[in-house]
Amino acid sequence: MTPMPEPHLSPIPLLVPDLPAPEALMPFLQRMHAARQYSNFGPLTCEFEAGLHARFAARSSVPLGLTTVANATLGLELALTALDLPPRSRVLVPALTFVATATAVLRAGHVPVLADVDPQSWLLTPEIALRAAADGTVSAVLPVAAFGAPHAMAGWHDFERDTGIPVVIDAAAAFGSQWLDAPTGTAVFSLHATKCLPAGEGGFVVSNKPELIAKVRQLTNFGINLNPAAGVPVGMLARIGTNAKMSEYHAAVGLASLAVWNDRAALRQALHADLRARLDAAAGMGVLRWQGMAEPVAAPTLLCVRLPHAEARDRLDRLCAERRIMVRRWYQPLLHAMPALAAHSVCLPAPAAAEIATDLCGLPFYLGMADADEARIVGALNAALGDGRNPCQSAAQPGTRRSA
Ligand SMILES: *Cc1c(COP(=O)(O)O)cnc(C)c1O
Repeated sequence: MTPMPEPHLSPIPLLVPDLPAPEALMPFLQRMHAARQYSNFGPLTCEFEAGLHARFAARSSVPLGLTTVANATLGLELALTALDLPPRSRVLVPALTFVATATAVLRAGHVPVLADVDPQSWLLTPEIALRAAADGTVSAVLPVAAFGAPHAMAGWHDFERDTGIPVVIDAAAAFGSQWLDAPTGTAVFSLHATKCLPAGEGGFVVSNKPELIAKVRQLTNFGINLNPAAGVPVGMLARIGTNAKMSEYHAAVGLASLAVWNDRAALRQALHADLRARLDAAAGMGVLRWQGMAEPVAAPTLLCVRLPHAEARDRLDRLCAERRIMVRRWYQPLLHAMPALAAHSVCLPAPAAAEIATDLCGLPFYLGMADADEARIVGALNAALGDGRNPCQSAAQPGTRRSA
């Protein structure tokens, strides 16, 4: 039976994008219009790339290259294409991820191999990849910074060095958390409106391999050679690319977003910590299971948590529907449970991912969330958990954060 929503409650959205106001874009748009360049690696795109590059270079001991793309999905596809693997190579991806990770593999002409994740970090680890690659069939690995949680790059550097298998991190949601702080590393980031450095649509690829970045850049521009020093004449097609360039309009939004990123990230982190503390206080310590990581995500955009069991999640879904609180089972169903994808993939056993998917829940999270809305979310969780936890610890404590 579908529960009736209570009409007097205003809906609490799942997320609210936090993009720069039109006034903040105006100086960039005026520069763009004065230059009369609207795409094709114009001044704003180059300035945006330089700003991003500076942040990564400050955290890296080796030189890095960086190029913008129209979105992270195309960034993943073109980074894989630039690896020049034989057609229908097998690319390892985690079963717990957004569908774009796997569709990018197929669009690049390869075969996704769906692997398990670590039960604590919810990530595909070098250990899991080593086991999956032991039979010699895996040609590349596409680990995902799930929900923005970064990978320790030292482990992937060792993996690449020891196996010779290239690794590209899908760090779509991990700007500000995922760095390339090992001698080897390649990562793709998203600038979608719902991610933490929003340009509306957009993305970028960053790598310690300059030739890979040069290939991706060329592939975003149809595959046309622009390098006078290359063997191919300038203007001639060097490889079969596509159009995945970032426009100057998107670079304008990206530059305005980057200018306020530090402040917005601090607010996101504080709100996330506050909500998490309130939910833990309501549930009782240890009842909710959070994604394990060394440091909190720098600029979280989602609030994902594992409830004690599947029934609690079903109850929470029902209560949230009644109370007009939007929730979402992120990354579910798992990739191997999507027939359109599984039909073209190799499915390895993924018991840890399957276990996580039985009770993982995404709660509302966005900057500017009212204190009363936080209280409604905590109240719904409290009601969903019922008696299934320690009563001594279940009294909700007020949050420490004041809503802005
Ligand atoms: C958002 C996201 C993508 C897709 O990014 P786009 O820029 O929207 O194409 C891919 N992978 C993961 C893990 C994501 O979170």
